[in-house]
Amino acid sequence: MKTAQISRRSFIKELGFLGALLFLPLNYRDAVIRPPGAGKDFLSRCIRCGQCIEACPYDSIMALDITAGALAHTPYINPLKTPCYLCQQRGPDGKDRPISKYLRCGEACPTGAIRKILNNKEVLAKVPEEMKMGVSVLNRDICLAWKYDSCGECYYNCPLKDKALRDRPPGELLEDITGIRPYVDQRYCIGCGMCNYVCPVKRHIAKSYMDRTIKLTYFEERYAAMVRNLIGAAGESVKLPAIRVVLRP
Ligand code: SF4
Ligand code: SF4
Ligand code: SF4
Repeated sequence: MKTAQISRRSFIKELGFLGALLFLPLNYRDAVIRPPGAGKDFLSRCIRCGQCIEACPYDSIMALDITAGALAHTPYINPLKTPCYLCQQRGPDGKDRPISKYLRCGEACPTGAIRKILNNKEVLAKVPEEMKMGVSVLNRDICLAWKYDSCGECYYNCPLKDKALRDRPPGELLEDITGIRPYVDQRYCIGCGMCNYVCPVKRHIAKSYMDRTIKLTYFEERYAAMVRNLIGAAGESVKLPAIRVVLRP
């Protein structure tokens, strides 16, 4: 009897999950990056309370809006806007935050939809599976390092530098090259989105040449001419930036 009740309950949960997928607009189906610790059962556990959003000290988490249908109000991370800072001390504003025992989003979640992960460098260095939000993919054809021997911002900013993001792909002979040649080792990338965030190969930089209302930062100006050349040659349909987080297959 108990087994029957449990299986009925899990059947209803599965049904809820499938229902959510059916009502999910196409552009959300393979693109939603969840906070670290969100497991396969995330959708059936998340009650849309927003406590993870409130708890994130870096404002990395947002809620999907009503255009997401059944997924409205569930938390997600848009690395183009703000990546996950893994609750480390220094934030994007240059100010320090107190280090919490667990990653704050999982600590605040009342249902276990986002699991608790200890917040320390040893845990991060082991790259636990439950921490993986997605994985980065690099398009060498529009990468400033591969094309112009410039940049390397993704490599320098990756929290798992020399592990998830390496300088030079193993086994490729790159003689007489001095600059960085980024390579993502997908076994270790957690999909935090920092590389995605800092990569300057972005559409608004290319557009700023024609649209004078777009103001570039000093950082963006440094790369603007090269970015325009690369994006112009690649065409409108190219996916940007040159390194971006996608869901794991
Ligand atoms: S791990 Fe920390 S920085 Fe990342 S989403 Fe969770 S609360 Fe925000
Ligand atoms: S998403 Fe980018 S910055 Fe984050 S671990 Fe992966 S390669 Fe590094
Ligand atoms: S930040 Fe972007 S353009 Fe720069 S090296 Fe990395 S992928 Fe290439």
